[in-house]
Amino acid sequence: MSEKNRLDGIGKSIAEFFFPRRCPFCGGAANDGLMCRKCRSTLPYTGEHAVQKGTFGRCASPLWYEGGVRRAILDYKFKGKLGGLDCFGQMMARCAAEEFGGEFDAVTWVPVSKKRLRKRHFDQSRFLAASLCVDWHVAPVETLRKTVDNPPQSGTADHARRRANVLGVYEAVDPAQIAGKRWLLVDDVVTTGSTLSECARVLKDAGAADVVCLTLAAARNR
Ligand SMILES: [Zn+2]
Repeated sequence: MSEKNRLDGIGKSIAEFFFPRRCPFCGGAANDGLMCRKCRSTLPYTGEHAVQKGTFGRCASPLWYEGGVRRAILDYKFKGKLGGLDCFGQMMARCAAEEFGGEFDAVTWVPVSKKRLRKRHFDQSRFLAASLCVDWHVAPVETLRKTVDNPPQSGTADHARRRANVLGVYEAVDPAQIAGKRWLLVDDVVTTGSTLSECARVLKDAGAADVVCLTLAAARNR
């Protein structure tokens, strides 16, 4: 191999290392730097059903949690594939601006426990919150702490059990910082809404003026 070819090869692999730019939903080439053309036109968008109401108040989600979206979120969350963060953040930021524009002053997230953080090395909802905040030039605020490492909600199907599973497992980090503000609460997926309900309750008990929720995806049949 000539020196030039060898250097070109190294340059190419470094470029791919820093800019993999794969579509997070199918692994194909990301045509626009975020996702591929096919996924952009065929993803399961929530569209006019983006906002759901529940005990958590209102929650907006740009996507349904199924097919390639479900795979992409599982890869992100459990395999640490962070390449889709820009894409996820942009979709969430747009959805929040469309559905809740002017209704919140600050952004926070549903935290994982310390034990989970040690195992997974990153807090998936914190990263989503940070990504969606990039274009708004604000930093998300840590308002909640998860004090109990309860069993994962994904292993609990029953609605009442999911509610019981999260009761009392979150606490406010600094109520003085929470009070009086209108919060956008970020999580990866909304299923029954039990986790969001509990976190919204803790924020409101700490004096939050309002809480609206935002997730990347929503389970369709709840
Ligand atoms: Zn794709």
